Amino acid sequence: MTKRKIRMGMVGGGPGSFIGKFHVKAAHLDGQTELVCGAFDIDPANSKLQGREYYLDPSRAYDNFPEMIAREKELPENVRMDFVSITTPNYVHYEPARLALENGFHVVSDKPLTNDTEDARKLVRLVEDTGLIFAVTHAYTGYPMVKEARHIVQSGKLGKIRKVVSEYPQGWLSEPMEGIGNMQADWRLDPARSGKSNCMGDIGTHALNLAEYVTGLKVTQLCADVSTLVEGRRLDDDGNVLVRFDNGARGIIYASQISAGEENGLKIRVYGEKGGLEWIQVEPNTLTVKWLDKPVEVIRPGNPWCSDIAKYNTRFPAGHPEGLIEAFGNVYRNVATCIQHRLEGKQPPAEALDFPTVHDGLRGMLFIDAVLESSESDSKWLDFPN
Ligand code: NAD
Repeated sequence: MTKRKIRMGMVGGGPGSFIGKFHVKAAHLDGQTELVCGAFDIDPANSKLQGREYYLDPSRAYDNFPEMIAREKELPENVRMDFVSITTPNYVHYEPARLALENGFHVVSDKPLTNDTEDARKLVRLVEDTGLIFAVTHAYTGYPMVKEARHIVQSGKLGKIRKVVSEYPQGWLSEPMEGIGNMQADWRLDPARSGKSNCMGDIGTHALNLAEYVTGLKVTQLCADVSTLVEGRRLDDDGNVLVRFDNGARGIIYASQISAGEENGLKIRVYGEKGGLEWIQVEPNTLTVKWLDKPVEVIRPGNPWCSDIAKYNTRFPAGHPEGLIEAFGNVYRNVATCIQHRLEGKQPPAEALDFPTVHDGLRGMLFIDAVLESSESDSKWLDFPN
């Protein structure tokens, strides 16, 4: 079979939405994937409008996702979509993912995986039963310098990892943005549409995923304090978590949307016996490595001394900055490469398998459950004798 473009259908990403546009741009970045259809909006008229924006065949801008999946399945094999990309609010992740998998379509879904953990477990079982590809867009792990950081930890150069600090402060919910026409704030702070957590689900799961990806370690115990600091809000807007990892390392994971003035300050610091490293999302092309016995190293992508995995995830020569679309693009390129190899009956290269999966999505859901349970419990605090 000769190579062909991988065909994408999209759920969500209608007019005025946030992340859907990133998915579309990222999917097209390397020319491997093509958007062919969508159910872009909760309002069918807006779905049609968005389809026109993307110059789609009007008959493939569907009124809703069940119709999209049913109609696409009826199309000839050489026309129908290969995978569904889900960019809707959290409460509309499970159903399109379930329907896609049950009808033989691969899935790329945004995070958190579902509105509740039971649905996440069902998706894991469906992926295992169908053998279909399922990526979750914890796309920060797509940055070349995050890959480099993981490579350095894996190489053992830092020694045994002892301490990990992964933080995600934002300031955009410092004031009550919900209820005043901000569509992103409205659903995020509504338990029916967001799930049982806002902040820890929305960005705490990214901080967890980044910590576990870079270190290769798993969080095994935690002690959390999750809060709602803007009065009248129905879900959390801040959370601080002490964590213990499976190798005995200690750490802190925190997420906040009331850290006034912060943009998207996702940052990770990892410390081993011999040195540490630091990466921050607002400067994604810089990785700082700190040593006990020599000066600080600054690593940037596109240089010959970068690891093979960082090079594989870099598109431009050194000094030409890459950003969030490229990081998302690395997830999409890996998914497209895996689908392509499957079509050709071949095994994909190992580097193409390096994307967050449904299992990472489930870990995010378990994290939400655990931090809320820990936060609601008093037993974790010891009384300080007076
Ligand atoms: P948004 O409110 O900006 O957009 C949601 C879109 O989904 C809208 O166009 C809406 O009409 C559409 N929609 C809602 N119900 C639908 C339905 N039943 N069928 C079809 N379309 C429907 O939301 P957003 O901020 O773009 O977030 C969307 C998802 O992406 C969320 O799960 C969020 O957590 C996630 N997200 C991930 C990242 C990341 O870095 N990976 C960043 C931002 C958002």
